[in-house]
Amino acid sequence: MTTAHQQHALPSYLNPEDLGPWGVYLQQIDRVTPHLGSLSRWVETLKRPKRILTVDVPIERDDGSIAHYEGYRVQHNMSRGPGKGGVRFHQDVTLSEVMALSAWMTVKNAAVNVPYGGAKGGIRVDPKTLSRGELQRLTRRYTSEISLIIGPNKDIPAPDVNTNEQVMAWMMDSYAMIEGNLSTGVVTGKPISLGGSLGRREATGRGVFVVGREAAVKRGVAIEGARVAIQGFGNVGGVAATMFADAGAKVVAVQDHTGTVVHQGGLDIARLHHHVAECGSVTGFPGAEAFLDRDAFWDIETEILIPAALEQQITADNAQRIRTKIILEGANGPTTPEADDILTDKDVLIVPDVLANAGGVTVSYFEWVQDFSSFFWSEDEINARLTRIMQEAFNAVWSVSQEKKVTLRTATFILACTRVLQAREVRGLYP
Ligand code: GLU
Repeated sequence: MTTAHQQHALPSYLNPEDLGPWGVYLQQIDRVTPHLGSLSRWVETLKRPKRILTVDVPIERDDGSIAHYEGYRVQHNMSRGPGKGGVRFHQDVTLSEVMALSAWMTVKNAAVNVPYGGAKGGIRVDPKTLSRGELQRLTRRYTSEISLIIGPNKDIPAPDVNTNEQVMAWMMDSYAMIEGNLSTGVVTGKPISLGGSLGRREATGRGVFVVGREAAVKRGVAIEGARVAIQGFGNVGGVAATMFADAGAKVVAVQDHTGTVVHQGGLDIARLHHHVAECGSVTGFPGAEAFLDRDAFWDIETEILIPAALEQQITADNAQRIRTKIILEGANGPTTPEADDILTDKDVLIVPDVLANAGGVTVSYFEWVQDFSSFFWSEDEINARLTRIMQEAFNAVWSVSQEKKVTLRTATFILACTRVLQAREVRGLYP
């Protein structure tokens, strides 16, 4: 018989003193467990990734030297369908982070009810230090190393931080060369010319906007004239900024990895996009009233705050300073459980990552369906379906949160983990 201690023992490679983002995820699971009824018998399944692959990714640098990078692909859960989730290239990628991100994909995919499990990949590399050729070799070698476990019916990668349509095209091509046949559905977020979907690039930011609109109604905030601050101006924050500005909100602050630009009357977002395209960052934007350092961003008073960069940005250290009504988590894992509690006590409505940023994977699902049927939909149809799914998911989560008197995060976890564990239970254990 196993003891309770053995039951919950974590894999030995994780430092029990500091589990990083994976530890945050485990705390979130502990919070949902009392709400799972008889399904809680299966909850341990959510605390262990199904499969973890660590790979060495060697490339020849342009100067002739050989460099090695550490890569991962983690398949957290596949009870509801094949693994699904992005690939991140970042110098701070760790196994704990990729494990947490894969688990959040499981929850996210179940929350919007797309037929996928959860997976995630990453390479510990700063892609800004690589030439285009080096980046291509890195991507191809990584794809080859993980080709053992990915596939259109097994596990489907997509873009994430610092990966894009070009990287997906290289992944698709490498997989086709290895397999000896072309299956476009092996990755999503591809260029349109290779079976990508209209609306995919904007989908995550659009989804953030759609749930933001719903949350604003519940919270009695008018989007027109609302002050919005956004951390991150990439594929998520940049699109959300445009959509909120177009809807009449005032985007008063945008922060990227170099600093914060502020304009109380609302930044000109179209001009800011041009500036970033030319100069590589928001710093120096002539349309700003003020430039602040990174930390001062958290003192800006707003109605809506959108963390759309990396994990663990809102912590017990800065949560007390935040003055806003609604937080829309465009990033994955931006708020720690301690900060969650502080902000909930301050009556801030947090729309959690696993709901707020699910628009990306929702349109990835549309892309995968289109690839299989070789029949492509119009952008209007894609956006209409995306909006409907996000609204329905938000309202289902809202009802659970009202009924059970829990935060939107716990409510999303209740809905999603119930779906995952029901599938787990009805499938039963093999053999
Ligand atoms: N990387 C995105 C996310 O975190 C999208 C994943 C996908 O489309 O598979 O949700």
